[in-house]
Amino acid sequence: MRFHPSVNASIIKFLGFEQIFKNALTGLSIGGGKGGANFDPKGRSDAEIMRFCQSFMTELYRHIGPTTDVPAGDIGVGAREIGYMFGQYKRITGRYEGVLTGKSLLWGGSLVRKEATGYGAVYFAEYMLEARGDSLKGKKCLISGAGNVAIYAMEKLYHLGATPVSCSDSRGAIYHEKGIDLELLKDLKEVRRVSLEKYLEVHTDAQYVPISDYPENGNAIWRFKGDAAFPCATQNELSGDDAQALLANGCVAVSEGANMPSTQEAVDAFIEAKICYGPGKAANAGGVATSQLEMAQNASMQHWTFEEVDEKLKAIMKNIFDTANETSIEFGQPGNLVLGANIAGFRRVADAMIEQGAV
Ligand code: NDP
Repeated sequence: MRFHPSVNASIIKFLGFEQIFKNALTGLSIGGGKGGANFDPKGRSDAEIMRFCQSFMTELYRHIGPTTDVPAGDIGVGAREIGYMFGQYKRITGRYEGVLTGKSLLWGGSLVRKEATGYGAVYFAEYMLEARGDSLKGKKCLISGAGNVAIYAMEKLYHLGATPVSCSDSRGAIYHEKGIDLELLKDLKEVRRVSLEKYLEVHTDAQYVPISDYPENGNAIWRFKGDAAFPCATQNELSGDDAQALLANGCVAVSEGANMPSTQEAVDAFIEAKICYGPGKAANAGGVATSQLEMAQNASMQHWTFEEVDEKLKAIMKNIFDTANETSIEFGQPGNLVLGANIAGFRRVADAMIEQGAV
């Protein structure tokens, strides 16, 4: 579920299309879809957000259910919005059930769901590098975005001994060579919900590039020097020129936390350069996979530990990497994970459709 002023039918269609094949690729028993609204939550009070979420759910509740369709968060939809929507669903239906994921830990949420997409994109990068005898340890990493996916990608990078040096929001980009101050970033974006420019009030040695100063045909983030890149903001945020800049600066791995952040020219450049490139369909599937783990816990009324869920997430990301990689070998383009992920996801959906008949 996405709430952002740019949402339109075309965006929901591409996101839904991606989601179906991504979910197939996880190997879990989940279908796929996407939804949202062109509502802009920025600058609204909690009460306004609550009223919007309630009205939205008053229409949506007919179409969702624990075995029908189970929405999760995306841009503009986090724990707060999921909470308001869940409350309204419960009020209308009288049922307390796993109809949404990304719920609060107080009432049915799963540990690691909040972290899952970002952590998963980093695990995926680590598996890509490991297959080539390399690792993230010691690498300087460029990250775009400053939301749910970006923040937890940075957290996992620090765990693995890498240094995230950039982040961005819809107004500009920060570059901080010493490493992004994650506690400050969480405070700015998760608690105070303010512009990244405020980062400079604490760290005067960081660099801020407002969006008005971004290069033509590109994004300032990808013009900084980094060994690996994690686009974690939105679609089409990494152009062909950006890809060339990354390659020229020695970037060896790109793992997409966002959905379709790289334009086709950028994807072609990464494939041609034969660097480790994990398309969002594979690399960011950890979020939806952990939504399925949340559904499994809700259905069985169990609550797993952080370590249990994290181990399952890691195993799922490894399985997705292996599946995409093996399929790329089977189809004669070893290491082309775009081809591998597309074919593996499509094959599972197509086979299921054939087996279930024309309905
Ligand atoms: P959030 O709303 O938490 O964060 C989005 C971040 O990207 C914010 O920093 C936002 O800036 C920035 N951003 C959004 N739109 C634009 C834009 N048009 N131009 C520049 N910056 C922008 O969303 P998520 O972190 O959840 O999602 C990020 C990406 O990851 C999306 O592509 C989403 O589809 C994908 N994804 C998310 C999953 C999840 O579990 N949440 C799962 C799989 C994929 P600002 O702070 O100014 O709003």
